[in-house]
Amino acid sequence: MEHKVIARCRSLAGCTEEPGFTTRTFLSPPMHEVHQRLRAWMEQAGMSVRIDSAGNLLAAYPAAQPGAAPLFLGSHLDTVPHAGAFDGILGVVLGLALVEKLAGRRLKFSIEVVGFSEEEGVRFGVPFIGSRAFIGEEVADARVSDAIRAFGLDPASIADAQAADNALGYLEFHIEQGPILERLGLPLGIAESIAGQSRLAVTFQGRQNHAGTTPMSLRRDALAAAAQWICAVEREAGATAGLVATVGRLEVEPGATNVIPGAARATLDVRHADDAVRRVAVERFLRSARQLAQWRGLSVSSEPLLDQPAVAMDAAFVAALEQAVTGSHYPLHRMTSGAGHDAMVVARRMPAALLFLRSPGGISHHPDENVLPEDVAAALTVGMHFLEQMEARLG
Ligand SMILES: [Zn+2]
Repeated sequence: MEHKVIARCRSLAGCTEEPGFTTRTFLSPPMHEVHQRLRAWMEQAGMSVRIDSAGNLLAAYPAAQPGAAPLFLGSHLDTVPHAGAFDGILGVVLGLALVEKLAGRRLKFSIEVVGFSEEEGVRFGVPFIGSRAFIGEEVADARVSDAIRAFGLDPASIADAQAADNALGYLEFHIEQGPILERLGLPLGIAESIAGQSRLAVTFQGRQNHAGTTPMSLRRDALAAAAQWICAVEREAGATAGLVATVGRLEVEPGATNVIPGAARATLDVRHADDAVRRVAVERFLRSARQLAQWRGLSVSSEPLLDQPAVAMDAAFVAALEQAVTGSHYPLHRMTSGAGHDAMVVARRMPAALLFLRSPGGISHHPDENVLPEDVAAALTVGMHFLEQMEARLG
């Protein structure tokens, strides 16, 4: 079964906007082909498939009794440009494989495998369009509506994408997209929370001047200050467990070889599982910027761009996953997800949990992204145990 899962993911990677690469953004034409291929496999497994007005694919596997609450399994179907074959789609294909493993056996709950239309935010710079529609949040935006219409769906009925009120919850399978599980030699990890995120713009204002005539002692070089600050951020973040901080973008004015930089505008991205730790760290980074600026005779200003709290996964679902992992005789590892996932959005509406599969080489968002057959087998075994836990819970 694990080889079938991997082969399916690899074959779906061929549905792309760009020959030779896997690039599949929100409701772009190749998404039709992904839907068609998934639909064929899903119907063969006895599921009924629909595409909602947000472009999410939903495949229902009925319960023993009609009207039973659904458990959602899945992830997203869109990709970043030049993606690998597993980010997102693996969670959908694994959900289908679990239904296939049931081989017609009916449970006390129905299973709905969900493939969200949009998670990455590539096409419009707005992430989580699929899962936000799924939890009933407003995603209306003229461009999004146009894309929905162009795909042959009706943006006016987007409310039909909302999940049923009696949903049991959502379990997402996803590749880790980082090096931790591989470093620990573990196939699987249970995300207990998704890290909170701060994003800021920090601008150092110095004095633009002639690179040839201004002595070193009389300069107010904005870029030199920014460079010193970036190294301080790196050093300070490294001294706090679980904290990551990144300056990912730097704009220099005027940006000429023979001109001392007058302004340097940097972005700062700070993440931690504990919101208090994250906010204290941001304050510390800003204090460092002010101290450095003062010492160099510059000014510095900052502008908050995002303050997104950490999201805890559902305690009961995490406990059920833990039992499923230990019951399957795999080593248990709880972790924080440094990246955002659909589970983070869905958690606002229903119990949600997230199971990571090891990422070989820690590589993701890259054509070399991979997954090991034995880890897929582990996820299938744990997934089946999880379904048994849910069955037992419903008495
Ligand atoms: Zn993903």
